[in-house]
Amino acid sequence: MKTVLITGASRGIGKATALKFAKEGYNVIINYLFQEKDALALKDEIIKKYKVEVLVYKADVAIEEEVKKMITNIKNTFGKIDCLVNNAGIAIDNDYLDKSTEEFQKVLNVNLLGTFLVTKYASLIMEKGSIINISSNGAINDGYSEAIDYDASKAGIIALTHDFAKRLAPKIRVNAVAPGWINTDMNKDIEPNFQKMQENNILLNRFGEKEEVANVIYFLASEASSYINSTIIRVDGGEK
Ligand code: NAD
Repeated sequence: MKTVLITGASRGIGKATALKFAKEGYNVIINYLFQEKDALALKDEIIKKYKVEVLVYKADVAIEEEVKKMITNIKNTFGKIDCLVNNAGIAIDNDYLDKSTEEFQKVLNVNLLGTFLVTKYASLIMEKGSIINISSNGAINDGYSEAIDYDASKAGIIALTHDFAKRLAPKIRVNAVAPGWINTDMNKDIEPNFQKMQENNILLNRFGEKEEVANVIYFLASEASSYINSTIIRVDGGEK
């Protein structure tokens, strides 16, 4: 049986991804940092619906010792993992003139360093398989300046994707998805006018749903994508 580790999986895209992999028969490791209740509720939901094993593990992806311990724990429980989804991420949107060094570094630490650290230690317990990173279309050509730190971190994730794909080939494929605006808690406080403006820039005229990202993440883990490597797939409805 295959096993997937999904970081930041208690809600949003991570949760939808956990449900998708469980449906496809994967054992699931739900990493979380803040929403313990949600993580445990997700575990219950998966166990009720699917015949797979679930491990819930609290760890901050930006703290090396916590990542190391998590991977040791996973090795002791499952022996190996077949897929890693680097999903944990944060955004602190504000004008660049108001952005403090601490805020900028925090975003880089969670999004970029976190992706690096989890990949570094998880790769040691992967014989073969697939790693999927979550970038953003803001890292490609649709960024906005309030998210200058976030977009920089997500651009860094594209570089990590290409470099790790080289280093871990041919055993492990490493790809990334670059979502556009997706309906999750990360975007729950945006103003309706701003949302309308953004929707007008999307060919499909709407924000995406988390399941629409989870389906592409699963595709990149599956045999259906066996010759796709070191690639970034946009999941953003198309830019006008
Ligand atoms: P979300 O806020 O619901 O999920 C992010 C998860 O990461 C949360 O569960 C959070 O607790 C967890 N997390 C944060 N810091 C962590 C840490 N240090 N260690 C472990 N977990 C941590 O948002 P989402 O929209 O589901 O985002 C999932 C991923 O998709 C993120 O990487 C995000 O940047 C990316 N993304 C989202 C959108 C969007 O529009 N929602 C667009 C592009 C990319």
